[in-house]
Amino acid sequence: MTIVINALITLLAFICMEIFSGLFHKYVMHGVLWRIHKTHHIKSKGNVEVNDLFSLTFGVIATAFVVGGAAEFDWRFWVGCGIIAYGAVYFVVHDVFIHHRIRWIENSTIPYLQALRRAHKAHHSYTDKDPGEEYGLLWIGKKYWR
Ligand SMILES: [Zn+2]
Ligand SMILES: [Zn+2]
Repeated sequence: MTIVINALITLLAFICMEIFSGLFHKYVMHGVLWRIHKTHHIKSKGNVEVNDLFSLTFGVIATAFVVGGAAEFDWRFWVGCGIIAYGAVYFVVHDVFIHHRIRWIENSTIPYLQALRRAHKAHHSYTDKDPGEEYGLLWIGKKYWR
């Protein structure tokens, strides 16, 4: 039974991360922290962006959850696993598949992945703080499925 509950906690944390990161992206990164996030919208030379500070921060928070809950494998450990899983998926989809920061997955014939890329490219068609669209990554609007 515990294994089911722990798996559910991890899954819930993963889903919450998609919701949270969408809202955080829209209201904070395209808000008070636009100066940092701007480095991802307006491409400069090199492969490192000041915007990577966000990934780093979420990585530290996830690690704190895992370490904090590791002694007894309590809920904090599984929440941390959910955040790490989301971060890993985000990295592969966003940084590798969409932005090609690492040459690995160049293209895909999977309709969902193609729709994801179209949605995120729509987000990048805006180079200013606002307006914008598609702040989430994995949950995308219907119009991108075609
Ligand atoms: Zn953005
Ligand atoms: Zn992007």
